[in-house]
Amino acid sequence: MKVGFVYNDKFLLHQTGLYHPERPERLKFIIQGLQESKLWQKLQQLVFDKAELETIQKIHSRAHINFVKEVCAKARYNNSIELLDAGDTPVCMESFDVALLAVGGCISAVDAVMSGVLKRVFCAVRPPGHHAESNTPMGFCLFNNAAITADYARERYNLKRILILDWDVHHGNGTQEIFYEDDQVFYISLHQYPFYPGTGARSERGKGKGEGFTLNCPMRAGSGENEYIEAFEKDIIPIFSLYQPELFIISAGFDAHKSDPLANINLTEESFVKMTEYVVNYANKFAEGRIISILEGGYDLEALKNSVKIHIETLMKD
Ligand SMILES: [Zn+2]
Repeated sequence: MKVGFVYNDKFLLHQTGLYHPERPERLKFIIQGLQESKLWQKLQQLVFDKAELETIQKIHSRAHINFVKEVCAKARYNNSIELLDAGDTPVCMESFDVALLAVGGCISAVDAVMSGVLKRVFCAVRPPGHHAESNTPMGFCLFNNAAITADYARERYNLKRILILDWDVHHGNGTQEIFYEDDQVFYISLHQYPFYPGTGARSERGKGKGEGFTLNCPMRAGSGENEYIEAFEKDIIPIFSLYQPELFIISAGFDAHKSDPLANINLTEESFVKMTEYVVNYANKFAEGRIISILEGGYDLEALKNSVKIHIETLMKD
């Protein structure tokens, strides 16, 4: 099956400074891995532009957007790297535009899967998004790509049940916050816990209309594939069956890989295949096969390259 691919060389222009783990090489390695494996020719490259500010504003406050814009302008003025938060979210003069382009790419994926042109799209984007809250950029994230993608899908295509599965090793506090009182977007996260950013306890289940529409599967440091599979079998698959999503969005971080330098979970490439297969099966059952997978973290370059490759290969299966 043809899988759509969202990528633009401009994503490399988001500079984070020396020694920062969220660096342009991450995407260079991913592209190189795909080209070497000949998967590259089987991917359908999507054409896209920067997202409109109105689209971002449905999720993020004007103050948030202006803040990112202003700090990037300051970086341009000083010809420097500037920080958006306490220290882990650096931006350069290009970062604002790159972040808008990343969102634009993810949105084009929605158009591609909803028009029926493609069933699956992988978005190789930077900067990542799942820590960005409605009013706060943080944790390497400027705008919440997955959240804006889900919101765009329901606004534009009138979807009522979208599921975001976030297997990045860190809890997606931003995505959770944005949809905490919402029953049209079900947020599921598997993550190391306790760990950065501190949220993601099992007791966080949503609120009001959204109560029961957030599922956190916290994992102790040292957990591996067995614990993840158990979470799928016991907690996640039953939700897939009950909720019957019309669209699956994966917040696809690959930092739960055992080689990753930022965390202590022991997944392998094969674990990502298994998790992808679960999503493929249930997307085929309920969502006409529709999956949009959006890159989040993953900081060991070799592990990232190999994991993304095999993840996309699995998305190609019927
Ligand atoms: Zn992460």
